[in-house]
Parts: sequence; C-alpha cells; structure tokens
Amino acid sequence: KNLSSAEIRKMFLDFFQSKGHMIEPSAPLVPHDDPTLLWINSGVATMKKYFDGTVVPNNPRITSAQKCIRTNDIENVGKTARHQTFFEMMGNFSVGDYFKKDAIPWAFEFLTSPEWIGLDKDNLYITTYPKDTDTQKMWAEAGVAADHILKNEDNFWDIGEGPCGPDSEIFYDRGQSFNNLSEDDPENYPGGENERYLEVWNIVFSELNHLPNGQYVEQPHKNIDTGLGLERLVSIIQGTKTNFETDLFMPLIEDVGSLCGKKYDENAEDDISFKIIADHARSVSFAIGDGALPSNEGRGYVIRRLIRRAVLNGKKLGVNGPFLYRLVPIVGSIMESYYPEVSQQQDFIAKTIQQEEKRFSETLDAGLALLNGVIADLRKKNETVIDGANAFKLYDTYGFPMELTREYAEDVGLSVDEAGFKQNMEEQKQRARDARGNLQSMGMQDETLMEIKTPSEFVGYDHNETQSTLKN
Ligand code: ATP
Ligand code: MG
Ligand code: MG
Ligand code: MG
Repeated sequence: KNLSSAEIRKMFLDFFQSKGHMIEPSAPLVPHDDPTLLWINSGVATMKKYFDGTVVPNNPRITSAQKCIRTNDIENVGKTARHQTFFEMMGNFSVGDYFKKDAIPWAFEFLTSPEWIGLDKDNLYITTYPKDTDTQKMWAEAGVAADHILKNEDNFWDIGEGPCGPDSEIFYDRGQSFNNLSEDDPENYPGGENERYLEVWNIVFSELNHLPNGQYVEQPHKNIDTGLGLERLVSIIQGTKTNFETDLFMPLIEDVGSLCGKKYDENAEDDISFKIIADHARSVSFAIGDGALPSNEGRGYVIRRLIRRAVLNGKKLGVNGPFLYRLVPIVGSIMESYYPEVSQQQDFIAKTIQQEEKRFSETLDAGLALLNGVIADLRKKNETVIDGANAFKLYDTYGFPMELTREYAEDVGLSVDEAGFKQNMEEQKQRARDARGNLQSMGMQDETLMEIKTPSEFVGYDHNETQSTLKN
C-alpha cells in the first residue's frame, strides 16, 4: 500500500474509533504532574490518572498517538534501524473495560486486514509469556500460525509494585536481507538484538497487582495498554531500510544534504550523522515547543546535550556554524497535520536552538583540537583512558557534555575517567562556594554582587555552573 505517515497515523485512530474508542490528543512531552518522569516516554505514561482511578474517563476505551522522548535510546540513534530519541507511540487503552479477547483480534485485524494496513500475516511473529496459554490460543484463533507464536520469559511487564501482567509483542519479519546478523546467529530470533525481526507493537495485559510483600494478586479491573511505534510501521509500509528513509525524516535529511554538499546513502559513517541530526532536530523542536529550555540540569541538560550532539555531527559532515535551527520549519511542516505546535512556535524554537548552537560552535573547534590532541597523546603512550581533568576542561571551558566526550572517545576505542571528571566538578563547586564565602565575609553586599546572584542572562556554559552555585 502507498500510504503517507499522516494517513497511517489517522488510520490507527480511525480503526480504534470504529471499535468504540475516544481519541485523546497527545499530551505535552513535559509531564505535568509526575515528578518521577523527566519526559513522557510512552502512551500509557499519560493515562496513569485513569488507571490509578484519580480521574474517570468519559469513555473507558481510549486511543491516542503520543509524542515520546526516550533518552536511554540516544546511543542507538543512527546505529539501529528502529530507534530515535523522539518517536510517536500509538496505542489503544482499556480502563477496566475490554480485555485480551478483544485486544488480540483487533491488533491482528488492524495489521493484516486489506481494509486497513494489509500486512501479510506470514510475516508476523508473536511473543508471549510462556504460562499465558490464553494469549497463545487467542493469537492462533485470530489467524497466526502456531509456529509463529513464541514463548519468552521476558514477556512480563512488572515495575516492582502496582499493576502488572503478562504482555505480548508483535514482530514483523523483514527478511534476512535486512539483517545485520547471520541467519544462525543466536540473537537472530524475534526479540533478539537483530535487524530482521522488527518489534512493532507491545500489548500489555495488566491483570495482576504486585503487592509490597512480593505477592501477586488479581486486579478487580483488568486493563489493556498497548504501544505501536509509528515510525516503525511507516518504514514497513513504505518499504524503507530504516525508520529514517520515510516521509517523516527524508525532508530533514535532504536539507542537511544540501547544506553539507554530501549525499545520504553513500557513506555509512555520514548516514549515522544524517540520522542523528534528523532525529535530534525533531526531539529538540518538540521539547522546546512543549516548554523545556536548554540548561545545565534535568530536561534542559538533555536538550543541551541533543543540540550539541547534533552540532558535532554537523561538523563531521562538514557544516560549520549554526544550522540545526534551520530544520525547525521543516519539522513543523512534516508534523503539523497532527501536531501544529512546532509550526505555531517556530520562530521562538528556532531562535532558542540557534543561540545554543552559536555558543557551542564558538568553542567547538578549540574543544575538538584539545580532544584530538589528548587522543593522539594517549595513542602514543599506548594508553586508553582520557583523564578527568581534560574531560572536565572540555565540559567547563568548551561546552562538551560529558556524554559527548565519552561517546567520541568510545568511537575511537577509548574511555573516560568518570570518577576523575566528577572530582574536578566537585572541586570547582567548592571553589565557587569559597569565593562566595570570601565575598560575604568582606561585606560586599552591593548591587553588583546581587546581580551575580540572580543571573538574568545565560552568559556561557562555563559561567553558568558557577552562577547557579552562587545562587544557592
Ligand atoms: P525495543 O526493544 O525495540 O527497544 P521497546 O521494547 O523498548 O522497543 P516498548 O517500550 O515496548 O519498546 O514501546 C512500545 C513500542 O514503541 C515499541 O514496540 C516500538 O514500536 C516503539 N518504540 C519504542 N522505543 C522506540 C524508539 N526509541 N524509537 C522508535 N520507536 C520506539
Ligand atoms: Mg527499547
Ligand atoms: Mg523490546
Ligand atoms: Mg517492547
């Protein structure tokens, strides 16, 4: 089928609407009442209020396409076919209403019916919790061949305490030509770390309650919670090698190509950079659009790290100076049919990114020179660990997030002395505290000092750390 990503997203929502679900719009990426979560990272994260009974939904059947950020996948971006830091999770939810008897055939119908997505059922593999024979039976009844229904102990969703239960995952067999592993590799199975069997949909049967004493008891109301990755489904339907050659990313990749004069799909190393930039452009555009700003901690640090990582990859492609901000209107127009928020705020978002890029671009060359010098030195001495003092200097003076230095080091087979880095950081904080103590003991409570204590403007990566310490 020839479907755009927007059509596929709509088709999912239409399908579940036809099964009596109400469509809930995507929540912002910044969780508004969940201090345990940095970013919304799944559809169900926004449904907590319904599942824990705080809010009663107008309809117990809900469907959504939810923007998500997962920073734990950052190092997979560009390296696997299927991971981004920003992605959309489509889902259907039952708040104490229907259960697996409906959820299973509906998932099968949506993916295989010619009226809907129309995938060949012979390409689907299902993983199930070994003891969950109900689920295995229901998949067979829906139309999946017995040898495509697999058992795996990992298929149990449990976060320690609270609702939990077996789950079932749907994999799409892309064929051995998509694989990064040989056919007889032990990881070459649905659920293994390979590129052949693509996990597209996770269905959780939340039926038990994990008590503090370790016991599992049945829940009075059983819930369904599912997550289907939009970009993965789009890549299957559009027949692309990875999530990135789809209409969700190609306009971004093409624009980067025109900036650097390189072509996508000609050099494997370059392609990783193209993909990282395209992904990070989306995540920072949406994150800033949803109210987060670059800073030195928490969410802001994630944004800073993503922007600087994108800039470094631009540099690898031969782009100098700010460029990421130019992608904001493209992100906006690709996504605006369902998420108008980036287009609506594109000037503010672009300006914020551009400022951040400028700060980093100014010190990037000097920082890279230092880093490459350190690496060359280590090579000469046959050593493999970048010392904490240099890692800290890169962070403090040149604006290299620690993770960026570590990644750069790992790419050339080195590591970083993380404890040494932390120690240098602590020492600098102590110096700042001492400096404050001195100023106070001298009784210098004048205007200028008050200004230092309440920074109104961000004056640079290195100064900011000291300022926030002074503020305490
Ligand atoms: P994987 O094993 O491939 O990392 P996961 O098991 O961590 O995926 P889930 O937590 O089950 O993913 O999320 C539900 C669905 O969301 C996945 O089946 C997948 O389609 C999609 N998804 C999860 N993480 C990402 C990501 N980083 N980028 C794109 N899609 C994702
Ligand atoms: Mg994962
Ligand atoms: Mg998985
Ligand atoms: Mg999963």
